Amino acid sequence: MVTKPKEDLQKAHRRRKNRESLLETLESIIVAFVLAFIFRAFVVEAFVIPTGSMGPTLYGRHAELECTDCGFQFSIGADESGRRGGPALSTPPVCPNCLRPQRVPPRVPLYSGDRILVLKFLYDFQEPRRWDVIVFRNPNDPAQNYIKRLVGLPGETVELVGGNVTINGVIARKTDAAQESLWMLVHDTRRRATRRGWKPRWQTLDGWEQHELGYVLAKAPPRDRTAWLAYAHRDLHDRPSNIVDYYAYNGGNRREETWLGDYVCTDVGLKTEVTAGGAESVCIIEMRAYKDRFRFELTAEGGKEPTQILLNDKVVAKAARPVLPVGRPVEVRVANVDHKLMLLVDGDRVANVTSADMTPEGDAAYEPKKLSGAERRRFHETHTDDPRAMAAEVRLGARGGPLSLEYLRLDRDVYYINERLRNGEPGHATEGNPFKVNGDEFFVCGDNSPKSFDSRLWLEKVDRPVVPRRNLVGKAFFVYWPAAGSRWHIPLPLLPDPTGWRLVH
Ligand SMILES: [Zn+2]
Repeated sequence: MVTKPKEDLQKAHRRRKNRESLLETLESIIVAFVLAFIFRAFVVEAFVIPTGSMGPTLYGRHAELECTDCGFQFSIGADESGRRGGPALSTPPVCPNCLRPQRVPPRVPLYSGDRILVLKFLYDFQEPRRWDVIVFRNPNDPAQNYIKRLVGLPGETVELVGGNVTINGVIARKTDAAQESLWMLVHDTRRRATRRGWKPRWQTLDGWEQHELGYVLAKAPPRDRTAWLAYAHRDLHDRPSNIVDYYAYNGGNRREETWLGDYVCTDVGLKTEVTAGGAESVCIIEMRAYKDRFRFELTAEGGKEPTQILLNDKVVAKAARPVLPVGRPVEVRVANVDHKLMLLVDGDRVANVTSADMTPEGDAAYEPKKLSGAERRRFHETHTDDPRAMAAEVRLGARGGPLSLEYLRLDRDVYYINERLRNGEPGHATEGNPFKVNGDEFFVCGDNSPKSFDSRLWLEKVDRPVVPRRNLVGKAFFVYWPAAGSRWHIPLPLLPDPTGWRLVH
């Protein structure tokens, strides 16, 4: 009997192993290919966003700018012809954060649009939901795929009122995920302008002091007084101004240099990191929209007062316990949006709604006070220093003890514009012209309302300005190849920028 040396046995064993693993690898590659084909055909498909109608949620062809003063980075859409040599913008855009007019360099690089994955068969199993971002064959030209946000479902009557969507006469409130996508920057303290004459947006009154990333109140004022930090919005001439529907993505405007937007926005959200200095510290955030006043009182652990939300001086929500730990920062998000009041601490709702209606998410819902046309006009025509003359007000206060605020960011909600049709008639679903969506039809709007050709405006080649069910392609769900990935100028294979991978909401 011949026995092989031990080493040979091991070699043979290794060879067999290698062969097996090679076969396994080949098998997995084949399976991956087959799966990929099945996926492409039936489950997901990739699309590139060509235009800016969904900006800033999804970018089309665009250029990237960095403000020459505050350093804020933002994108501007390139015109659809997409020629190199610069986006076609008739006047330069201004920085959305500090309003410094920017020059677009003549040979600014253009980046292609975001690439997204679309779930194609989801809607065979579940009904499309309001606020889904959907891909569909354009009813005006079925060879083309369009992407918009779904706002009206079969059988509903849609009307756009004051920038909001109403369904059958009742306001439609956005989901948390959609809202996060639809907040648009008004001001962020992380980027500060340094030019002479620029007025800080947050006005420090009563002992607040500016520090690198925010504001500090080292010493609370005596007795029951509140020390205030008030937001003052400004226009391009540094005059006090209302917050308007400015889209830096769309660049400047043709008509006049001071233009930033046409519509006054009163739905605003504030995000900041709050650190309570002591058990008696109370952080107060006050907002006003026209004649309605909202007050968020956040108290510190160990203090005696409750954390609560007040609507026109009445408590509408209360927390079970104080929400600010002493000496440790927490992220606070408050908002008045879609006729509801939100208060989130580190991402969670902390106050239980008491007397008011509650949204499914647990926010305090309300009906705004009625305004006459004259009252509304008065709120809209102001350049005074009196904050009460403005349509919206935001201020932050502290009492009882020290408080520090970092990363203050103010956003506005999307404002759906009542556009006119090319023949001069009011667009579909505009205020005073509610639109009835029939069975198996969907009403869609783009997030970039001033630059979106959507259900509001479709007229010429279609009988009805809607997406018929048979035109649905699927739900956009993932940006797998963010537009900024082409920043590196590598022709092929292009590398995606993983920092931009994100779900579409
Ligand atoms: Zn700037």
